[in-house]
Parts: sequence; structure tokens; C-alpha cells
Amino acid sequence: MTALPAGIPTQLYIDGQWRDGSQGAFEVVDPSTGDVLTSVARAGLDDLDAAIDAAAAAQPDWAGRAPRERAEVLRKAYELMIERSEDIAFLMSLEMGKSLTDSRGEVTYAAEFFRWYSEEAVRVGGEVRMSPTGANRIVTFKKPYGVALLLTPWNFPAAMATRKLGPALAAGCSVVLKPAEDTPMTALVLAQVLTDAGVPAGVVNVITCDKPGDLVEHALADERVRKLSFTGSTRVGSLLLKQAAEHVVSSSMELGGNAPFLVLDDADLDAAVEGAMLAKMRNGGQACTAANRFLVVESVAGEFAEKLAAKMGELTMGPGTAEGTKLGPMINAKQRDGVADKVTRSVQAGAKAVLGGSTPEGSGFFYPATVLTDVPRDAPVAVDEIFGPVAPIIVVKDDDDAIAVANATEMGLTGYVYTRDLARGLRVSEKLEVGMVGLNRGLVSDPAAPFGGVKESGLGREGGFEGIEEYLETTYVATNW
Ligand code: NAD
Repeated sequence: MTALPAGIPTQLYIDGQWRDGSQGAFEVVDPSTGDVLTSVARAGLDDLDAAIDAAAAAQPDWAGRAPRERAEVLRKAYELMIERSEDIAFLMSLEMGKSLTDSRGEVTYAAEFFRWYSEEAVRVGGEVRMSPTGANRIVTFKKPYGVALLLTPWNFPAAMATRKLGPALAAGCSVVLKPAEDTPMTALVLAQVLTDAGVPAGVVNVITCDKPGDLVEHALADERVRKLSFTGSTRVGSLLLKQAAEHVVSSSMELGGNAPFLVLDDADLDAAVEGAMLAKMRNGGQACTAANRFLVVESVAGEFAEKLAAKMGELTMGPGTAEGTKLGPMINAKQRDGVADKVTRSVQAGAKAVLGGSTPEGSGFFYPATVLTDVPRDAPVAVDEIFGPVAPIIVVKDDDDAIAVANATEMGLTGYVYTRDLARGLRVSEKLEVGMVGLNRGLVSDPAAPFGGVKESGLGREGGFEGIEEYLETTYVATNW
């Protein structure tokens, strides 16, 4: 069993102090063995109140500092994260299970949100317009919302947190961050990074717990919390929107996906397979952007399936922390069993497993790389978000058929299109009902790009110029001179 490195924080971080949770502690499990790694503080309502008190008290001073000062704290946080990247990557591989290659990639990606928003902190502006009647000027300026509640999932423990922390802090908000119960320690390490970078006490608070429902509802009922930013499932996001509605809390939602990956008849198949490996297998398929349905035009479907199965079959499965592992375990038994169940029911519905397809014996929450062909359009793996290393291939007739199948879902986060004809690719991209398209690329995530979904995949955007706007509201002054 791999031990937890010394010095990893397991307490709550409130008002610049580490403290125990009033409700004891909960266990965090190593997904590659099923063994308990450690216990982490379980916050109660009193801890949460203390975190909101601290955030509310610290926010006006933080917002009042020179933008350049906030920028330099974020820039320092970027540098510290890069300096500590090996330690952070190892911790993520341990608590979440992803391969070290994936963890290293995530730390760099996550740190970039601190750098990007250190650069954006000094570019918040307003406008002066002339009223159409000519009677007065319209002057606008931007102000931070105040206290922001940030809720993050387990699949990208660092990046989902920094994608919120960077813009929130740049805008002048203070925050209460609640990470997912499966991977709480990465968020606590980020609190260390930000503190060492110079974030004043109370501006960043981290609350951990394993039953978040009551705490989050309590926070959303506190009139000082003016912003909610959530990344997670559509089911929970929709529940939180109802709670946020009660006090009209501004809400940004990054929710589930069901990404179509279109391979058109003129695609470069080797490039498509390379892109498919990234789009499907990064993070063991546990990504909201993960290709969920491969929609392949019939003339190339057989060759694509063969090439993809060959590549996926080469992946070494093992603990995330072992060098050489290309596919780690699923996050927990429930998630692994859910993936296995979707595959079993899809095979019963007519799909053929040409690679993988059954849960291995032994400890840990492993599920093998799996390729399914002849997948019916209404099979469970096609209809639901899989969130695992399973690639279902659905044969389509032509571009229009592919677009129709791609859009026949309530989700709309990411889509992928492979074709040698750029104009054709752009025409198809435009017709996909998604927030992001990878055109001849298997990876869309970029700190400088607006990340987010349409339909039930979310509200708002993170990253890019857009990301900071989620933490700013506009005041308008009617005036004349
Ligand atoms: P989840 O919805 O179960 O949990 C997300 C967060 O919400 C966690 O912090 C969890 O503790 C908290 N939570 C759970 N139940 C809650 C409740 N009743 N009240 C308040 N908070 C609650 O999601 P998950 O399983 O951690 O993550 C997987 C999901 O996240 C997938 O659907 C995936 O597509 C989505 N996701 C989306 C994006 C994106 O940017 N769109 C990125 C990563 C993951």
C-alpha cells in the first residue's frame, strides 16, 4: 500500500487557521486498493458559519486592494504550484487514482488558471456610452459579487478548484471552497499554496465534509453568500439551482456531458484514433468532456474500431502512483459498478465487446479499457454519461445522420469532429448543440478559452476572458457633464 506523504493537511482551513471539524472526521480511501488512506475533518454548520464570517469580513479589504496586488498573489500561487507540481501530482494520483501522466498534466493546467487570472485581474473595465436620446451618459463599472461558494467534483481535484479560485480572487471575491468527499486533500494543499503566495486570512476558506447536502443548503440560505459556482453532475446542479433561487444567488454551473465524437468519411483515421485516445481515455474516461459516443460513418467504421481497440488494448492498468500506469482505477466501487452495469445492459441490447467489458478480480476499483461495436442508438452507454474507459461505436450514414444522433441528448458540453475538409468540419461544428468543439483535436480544455456547456450541461463559462465575468456584476450610473 502507498502511504500518504507526510505534511498533507487534513484539517479545515478557516480564517487563515487550520482546525478540526466539529463533526469529527471521515475516511478517504485509496481507489487502487480500497484501503483507508487517512481521515479528513468533517465540518459542521458551526464551522461553515465561521468560514462565511471570515470570508465576509475579509472580502471588502481584498476587493479594495490594487488589482496589481491581487494579480501578484495569483502569479506567486502559479509559481509555487509549478514548484510543488510533483508533490501535488503524486497526491492526486493517490487520492483520485489517475495516472501520474494525467496528474502532471492537470497540475500544469490547474496552475495556468492562476497565471491567466493574474493577467486578467488588471484588465477589469467599464464603459461610457451616450444615451440614444443624447440626454445623458451611461457609465458602467464592475464590482465583485462578494462571498462566493465554490463546489468542486473529484475527477479534476486541482483544476476544477483553480478554475474557480483564479477568477474569483482576481475579481475581488472571497471564497468558501468545498471539495468533493473522495478527493478533499488536493483542495487543502491548494489552500497552503495560496496562503504561502500571500492571500490574506479569511479570503480563502476550505470546508471538507462527506454529507454536503445540509451544509450547502445552509450556505445558500446565508444572505452574505452572493455567488455559487458548481462543477458536478446535472442532478446535483439542478437541485442547487432550486436552492439558490430562494435567495436569488447568482449561479454558474459546469455540469455533465455526453460528448459525441464524429468521424466523417474523409477523416484521417490515425489522427482520429489519436484524438479519440485523448478524448476518451484522459483521466480514465472520468471527464465531463470525455467522448461518450463515437459516431462513425459506415464506410470507415470497421477500420476505426479495429485501430481504436488496438490502441486501447495497449494501456497498462495499475495504481495511479506507479510510473508506467496508463489507466488507473475508477474513483470508487459505486462508480465502477455503474460503468460495468451500463456495459452489461448495452451488450444485452445488442452491442459487442471487442475489448474489455468485464470487471477484473482483485482489490481496487479497476475497470478495463473497453470498446463496444454495433451499439444501438438507445443503448445505456449511448444515452447516459458513462464516466469510465468505455468507447461505444455507433455507425451513422452520413454527416446529417451523425449530427442528428449527436444532438439527440439533453446534454451539450463538448463535441468532436474529424474530417480532412476544414469547411465541412466548421459547418458540422456549427450545427452541434454543444458549448465546445474539438475540430480534429481530442482536447478542448485551455485556460484561455471559454469552457462550458449548453442545454443541461450548464450555465456560464469558466476560463478565458469570460471566466472572470462570472464573479463581477455591473453598476450603471446615469450622469451628465
Ligand atoms: P456530484 O454532483 O456528485 O458532486 C459534485 C460536488 O457536489 C461535490 O463537491 C459533492 O460533494 C457535492 N454534492 C453532492 N451532492 C450534493 C448535494 N446534495 N448538495 C450539495 N452538494 C452536493 O458530481 P461528481 O460525481 O463529483 O462529479 C462527476 C460529475 O461532474 C459528472 O457528471 C461530470 O460530467 C461533471 N463534471 C463537469 C465538469 C464541467 O466542467 N462541466 C467538469 C468535471 C466534472
